[in-house]
Amino acid sequence: MAISEAGGARPRPWRAYLVLCAVAFAALIAVALSGQAALPVAAAGAAVIAALAVYLALPRRAGAAEDASSEPVREGANLSAQARDIFEHVDDPLLILDAAGRVIFANRASKSVIGGEAEGKRISGVLRTPEVLEAVERIIAGGEAENIAFTVLVPLRRHYEAYIARTSGPLIVIRVRDLTAMRRAEELRADFVANASHELRTPLAAVTGFIDTLRGHAKDDAQARERFLEIMSIEAGRMRRLIEDLLSLTRIELNEHNPPAGEVDVVAIVHDVAAALESLAEPYGSRVVMAPHEPLRVTGERDELCQVFQNLIHNAIKYGRSGGEVRVRFGRAAPSKREGAGQVFVTVADNGEGIPREAIPRLTERFYRVDVKRSRERGGTGLGLAIVKHILNRHEGRLQIESTPGEGSTFTVFLPAAPTAAPSESHS
Ligand code: ADP
Repeated sequence: MAISEAGGARPRPWRAYLVLCAVAFAALIAVALSGQAALPVAAAGAAVIAALAVYLALPRRAGAAEDASSEPVREGANLSAQARDIFEHVDDPLLILDAAGRVIFANRASKSVIGGEAEGKRISGVLRTPEVLEAVERIIAGGEAENIAFTVLVPLRRHYEAYIARTSGPLIVIRVRDLTAMRRAEELRADFVANASHELRTPLAAVTGFIDTLRGHAKDDAQARERFLEIMSIEAGRMRRLIEDLLSLTRIELNEHNPPAGEVDVVAIVHDVAAALESLAEPYGSRVVMAPHEPLRVTGERDELCQVFQNLIHNAIKYGRSGGEVRVRFGRAAPSKREGAGQVFVTVADNGEGIPREAIPRLTERFYRVDVKRSRERGGTGLGLAIVKHILNRHEGRLQIESTPGEGSTFTVFLPAAPTAAPSESHS
């Protein structure tokens, strides 16, 4: 249902006709009574009738809601310059309508919902959302304030909620809240729970299946029992890693807005991590080669930075070439004015099969994997790079991913240098 156009601004020539008719009528009476003696009486009568007609024809100022609503809206009618200025500073879209549903004020933020140049137009002419227009009609008709949820599809799908109420003015206020980001977060959370449950369900189903088999026909088969127990142990390990990664991610996310306070040497951290990963590199026949470097101090939290390099070096081992090398390099990036002490970088490069170009922007999404089967076979959870991203966000750092399919991948971590650190080598 659209807002009715009744009561719009119309010219009023009928008032001029009324005045003319009254004057002509008075003149006729004067002529009809044109005896010499009756002339003053006739003239007085004509004057009284003409005055009465003019009075009736003039627009009435007070208590004439109907007439007022058909006046063209003047800019800022019924809204002081101060009120307009205040409303311009409100971040949410805000519209003020007159009693007939015409926009008398639309703040800057409202342009995203109704476009520009809305003032002076009927709300039905600038907003094509039936739910909101119907609510405005109900409120014009004296209804209570309402909250209306609506979606705008063009140019991009966005979700809004409008609060519509009548002021004592009587003006109508429409305040709109953009719920798109909140809805998106809800959707992401729901997807995340669904994905996490799915990831846990697979190994759990395997373990449950093997328990049934061991209780049933494989009960007395010692060889099968060993094999199944081995698989159950792998699946249980996968569930444990997944739960650990999920807990890490939640902890890091909760802490993300708390900048780290400590100061650590990132070269020492990477050396410790590489040493701890040696046993994991062995089955792949690969090794981690570190370029020597003087200490590089960054503002950061040791445990979290250990996790960043553990995930990156472990990935380079898992997805690198068997028998290949994982090369780690350190350095400083030249500081910009904004960066103060500049940036420190650590590069982890492998000579594996690389990553398709279109997959690179998605690698840090939770549970995103280029090859799910391969990731699972190598004990991946699909959360490693998401954890890296969140830790780096907290450290005001960033991750750069470069890859040439068939040749290998390079993951570079940039971290803000600690204020005391001095520059020596630069990153090209
Ligand atoms: P996963 O636990 O699966 O390793 P990650 O979040 O650490 O999860 O990585 C996401 C995906 O990115 C991996 O499944 C893999 O497809 C790809 N990937 C990560 N590191 C590399 C690498 N060094 N070489 C090739 N692919 C990689």
